[in-house]
Amino acid sequence: MTSLMQIDILTLFPQMFQSPLSSGLLQRAIDRKLVSVNIHDIRYYTHDKHRTVDDYPYGGGAGMLLKPEPIFEAVEALKSDLSLSQRGQELPIILLTPQGRLFSQQIAQELSQHSHLVLICGHYEGVDERVREHLVTDEISIGDYVLSGGELAAMVVIDAVVRLLPGVLGSEASPLDDSHATGLLEYPQYTRPPVYRDWAVPEVLLSGNHARIAEWHREQAIMRTLQRRPELLDKAKLCLKEEQLVERLKQPQ
Ligand code: SAH
Repeated sequence: MTSLMQIDILTLFPQMFQSPLSSGLLQRAIDRKLVSVNIHDIRYYTHDKHRTVDDYPYGGGAGMLLKPEPIFEAVEALKSDLSLSQRGQELPIILLTPQGRLFSQQIAQELSQHSHLVLICGHYEGVDERVREHLVTDEISIGDYVLSGGELAAMVVIDAVVRLLPGVLGSEASPLDDSHATGLLEYPQYTRPPVYRDWAVPEVLLSGNHARIAEWHREQAIMRTLQRRPELLDKAKLCLKEEQLVERLKQPQ
């Protein structure tokens, strides 16, 4: 059986992926053949004795840059391995970079629709600009800060995408309720015991009344989003009644 998604990662540090891919949800998805992840050492695609992957930037400046040749050759080798049926499909070749589009649940959802992703992890000062200009089809940043390499960023992207693939999470419904999936933060949740150190679970959740519980969830999600991330509400899809609730909550008490 072929998996739902194939992910190929180009990196200088293949060992960094061992632990994340061999525990928890990712390992389960791999074991169940829902996703296959292949790690490629960029160094393998060098031809000189010292297996050189980096060089000084033209024009000076601090640090080293990843050379273009091994990265182009690694991606080309991957492409030539694709079966004929896969060749017609668009293959996203994603460079992890702090200059890319800011990763979000929406981008995770978009990527989860593809059957194959290639992720390129930079290192040192980054990669030769020609990789960006002539090889990659997409650039993703996981946030406005600078990491020492693209490996952790690639893992973040993989984790967020794989949990959206059908069958990876236990219940099909759960990713739909998550924070950001609905455009809202998720409502607060409780488990047993019903009273812990005098702190009781909201009574409505114990009522068994599903309609009331659903209404409470929705209201709480809206309130929470308003308190913590009000800018998200501008894009959330709210019905008239919910918009009125937001207006009421915004009034000074
Ligand atoms: N000099 C570069 C940063 C290099 S950081 C610049 O200013 O743009 C080294 C590598 O770490 C990058 O090539 C990239 O692959 C990865 N990286 C660093 N920060 C990242 C971020 N926020 N998101 C995704 N990848 C990042």
